[in-house]
Amino acid sequence: MTLIGQPVTVIGAGVAGLAVARALALRGAQVTVLEQADAIREVGAGLQISPNGSAVLRALGLQSALEAASMRATAVNLIDGPTGDPVTRLDLARLRPDQGYHFLHRADLIALLLQGAVEAGVTLRLLSRIAEVDLSGHRPAVTLDTGDRIETPLLIGADGLHSRLRAGLNGPQQPFFTGQVAWRAVIPAEPGAAPEAEVHMGPGRHLVSYPLRGGTLRNLVAVEERARWAEESWTLRDDSMDMRLAFADFSPRVRGWLDHVEDPWLWGLFRHPVASSWTKVLAGGSIAILGDAAHPTLPFLAQGASMALEDAWVLTEALTRHDSPAAALAAYQATRKLRTTRIVAAANANARAYHLSGLPRMIGHTGLRLLGRLAPAAMLSRFDWLYGHDVTQLPA
Ligand SMILES: Cc1cc2nc3c(=O)[nH]c(=O)nc-3n(C[C@H](O)[C@H](O)[C@H](O)COP(=O)(O)OP(=O)(O)OC[C@H]3O[C@@H](n4cnc5c(N)ncnc54)[C@H](O)[C@@H]3O)c2cc1C
Repeated sequence: MTLIGQPVTVIGAGVAGLAVARALALRGAQVTVLEQADAIREVGAGLQISPNGSAVLRALGLQSALEAASMRATAVNLIDGPTGDPVTRLDLARLRPDQGYHFLHRADLIALLLQGAVEAGVTLRLLSRIAEVDLSGHRPAVTLDTGDRIETPLLIGADGLHSRLRAGLNGPQQPFFTGQVAWRAVIPAEPGAAPEAEVHMGPGRHLVSYPLRGGTLRNLVAVEERARWAEESWTLRDDSMDMRLAFADFSPRVRGWLDHVEDPWLWGLFRHPVASSWTKVLAGGSIAILGDAAHPTLPFLAQGASMALEDAWVLTEALTRHDSPAAALAAYQATRKLRTTRIVAAANANARAYHLSGLPRMIGHTGLRLLGRLAPAAMLSRFDWLYGHDVTQLPA
């Protein structure tokens, strides 16, 4: 199908929404993005873009913007949290040079995607919160908080974790609290911070850290298992003392970082099923969802943003390559559901691996130490299916 002149309405100006907006606009579509916020401002903390995500930014012509805004990661170090002893090291420098692994601030990723979308001719409408979705008529329609109703021949839901469009396609779904909370914070980095991620692992807890913005800032994500419920929100603050207490028996390096934390964000970790239905074709229009709207994930594989970028590319390619919306959306859902289900399951499994205690912990850490020493390349090749997957080189 040609996308030239095709009107498209995208809900949400996050990573998925802005990426798909640019991808579609570059193919000639007339794209409008509706975003509930009153401004695209500095929100969030650090994000990781692994090679499978950076391949999409490269194909969208945003490689140099990504290089300018991010730090190229050279390694992931797994460390015993309480002692600070190294367990093993994943040498990311072994990845092909064109397969960059990047650390960057979410605000910087949003800024470069926004600029890319606007340059491609995308219209952004702020203060446009979708209150209702109507998929029962001839065309998909949304109603804004203001009461305005918008009908569109192609409606794309990139409205994140609490997606209205996912609910419109699948009915309400009940995520369950995993019994884990994550604190997120950004602190000033120590001078000369290496572009390496550190995962400090302890029984029932772990803390991930990496530098941002040329090594001036340090991102911290600290996860604790606990029974007390916490809200699933990007915008909830907590007392920094709670975070310090949870990691009081970790190494001086970790405790030193936590001394600098003020007002961390608290995020209750919930497990959502991958949406069963991602698309719908009506007589006069079609609907698709992508990103967190389709497959919210736990953060333990750092794939939220990279999966959203992959979705954006595959959806656009499918719409371009197939003759009808029905064929395009069926191909999109089939490819992406399979891959994202595997990634979400792998992220779920990592939570258990990081939080081992007692004998399983000793055996697990010893196995990792040996593997890292004897077969470092094998350590990295375990992730080939994830990082080596380049959707820009695959048939849609
Ligand atoms: C404020 C915020 C902070 C975040 N911070 C981090 C972080 O520090 N680390 C991390 O790993 N991930 C963070 N994320 C999540 C991360 O961006 C996503 O997991 C990933 O990038 C996938 O992006 P997405 O575009 O699918 O969803 P999101 O990035 O969540 O974007 C969804 C967009 O849709 C908009 N939206 C939602 N509902 C409506 C509606 N009804 N009408 C109109 N617009 C709507 C939202 O305002 C948002 O801009 C954050 C997300 C948000 C929204």
